[in-house]
Amino acid sequence: MTSSSNVASRTGLAAITNGHGGFVLDFIKIRAPIGDEVRVALGASGICHTDYASLSWDGPLVVGHEGAGWVEAIGPDVHDLKIGDPVLLNWAIPCGHCKRCDTGHANICERSHGIDPETLGTSRAGHDHTIWNGSAIQRSFNLGTFSEFTLVRRSALTPILSGIPVEQACILGCGVMTGVGSVLNIAQPSPGDIVAIVGCGGVGLSVVQGARLAGASRIIAIDVRQDSLDRAKVMGATDLLLADASDTNHDQLSSQIKSMTNGRGVDFAFEATGVAALAFLPLRLVRNGGMAVQVSGAQGAVEVPMPLFWWDKRYVTPLYGGCNPERDFPRLMRWAVEGALDLSSMISKTYHLENLAMAIDDMLAGRTAKGVVIFENGRAHV
Ligand SMILES: [Zn+2]
Ligand SMILES: [Zn+2]
Repeated sequence: MTSSSNVASRTGLAAITNGHGGFVLDFIKIRAPIGDEVRVALGASGICHTDYASLSWDGPLVVGHEGAGWVEAIGPDVHDLKIGDPVLLNWAIPCGHCKRCDTGHANICERSHGIDPETLGTSRAGHDHTIWNGSAIQRSFNLGTFSEFTLVRRSALTPILSGIPVEQACILGCGVMTGVGSVLNIAQPSPGDIVAIVGCGGVGLSVVQGARLAGASRIIAIDVRQDSLDRAKVMGATDLLLADASDTNHDQLSSQIKSMTNGRGVDFAFEATGVAALAFLPLRLVRNGGMAVQVSGAQGAVEVPMPLFWWDKRYVTPLYGGCNPERDFPRLMRWAVEGALDLSSMISKTYHLENLAMAIDDMLAGRTAKGVVIFENGRAHV
C-alpha cells in the first residue's frame, strides 16, 4: 500500500531537550518511511516522570514516549496498516527474534530498538530519520512523542480499537501498561487477595485498577495526598490510608497495615512513588511469603536491612509491567471499551504542546494523575 505522502519528508513541531534539564519547541524534519517503517501523526502524548528524567539524558533528543496518533505514511513492507488507522506507540519495541521475545517476554527484548542501523541489525539509511537544525538527532525510546510526527518500525504499533479516543489510548503506552501489567502479568494475585499500593499517581492508579481487575478483596491505597487517595477510590480502592509525612521510618504505616490484616500483612504490596527511600517499603507491608513489587523504577542507592527479605518474601522490579504488546494492548483496549478499565478518569488535565513545561510542573507537584498533550491538528495531517 502506498500514499502520496510517502515520497516526502514532513516537518513538525517537537519538544527537544539539550540534555541539561530544559527543552525547546522547534521544528524537526522526519523522513519518509522505508522497509517496515511507519510515519505517525501524533494525536496525543501522555506525560510520565521518565519524560522529566529524559531532560537530563544525552541531547539533543526529542522528548516523549507515551503516544498515540494516526498512520500518516507507510513503508513498502507494511501490509496490515493503512493511512489514517489510529495506532498506539509502544516504547519497548520488540525485535521478535531473540530468546526473550521467543518466550513471550518482549518487554525485555535483547535487542529492543528503533530504526537505527546498529540496533536493527540490517542496512538502513542511517541516522537521518529525524533532522533538527541540519543534524540528525535521537528520540526518547526511539519514539519522541512530544512531536507532531514520528517514524517507527511497524512492530512499535498496535491498532487502536474503535471507541477509544487517541487522547485516552496514549496512556496505555506506558503508565497504564506498567501498572496494570505489574499486577496481572507479574504479581498475579488470586481473587480474594489483599493488595496495598504506596503512591497513587498515574502508575499507582493503574495498579489499583489492575488489582480490581484481578478480583482483590481489599485494595489499600496509601499516599501523602488526599486528592490522590480520592482518585484511587474512583479506580476501585477499598481502603484509603493518608500517610503521615512525619512517619519517616514507616513504623506507623506498617503497624496500621498489620492491624488491618489481622496481624499478617497484605498478600501483595506495590511501590509506585519513584522515591528511592521507599523502594523497599513494600517488604514491610507484606505477609510472610508475600510479594513486594517495585514498579516505579526508583533510582539511587538505598540501605536495606536483610531481614526484610526473610520468611520467603519475594521482591520484583518488573519493567513495563511485563508488556507483551500482542497480548496486552488488545486486552487493555477491550477492557477500556467494555468499561472495565477506566482511562478517562486517569487523565486530570490536557495541554497544548506549547504548555509542556506547565504540564511537567503539574505532574512533579502531584496536581495531576496523568497529564496529556493534545495535538489538535494530528488528524488533519493524515
Ligand atoms: Zn527481541
Ligand atoms: Zn513512562
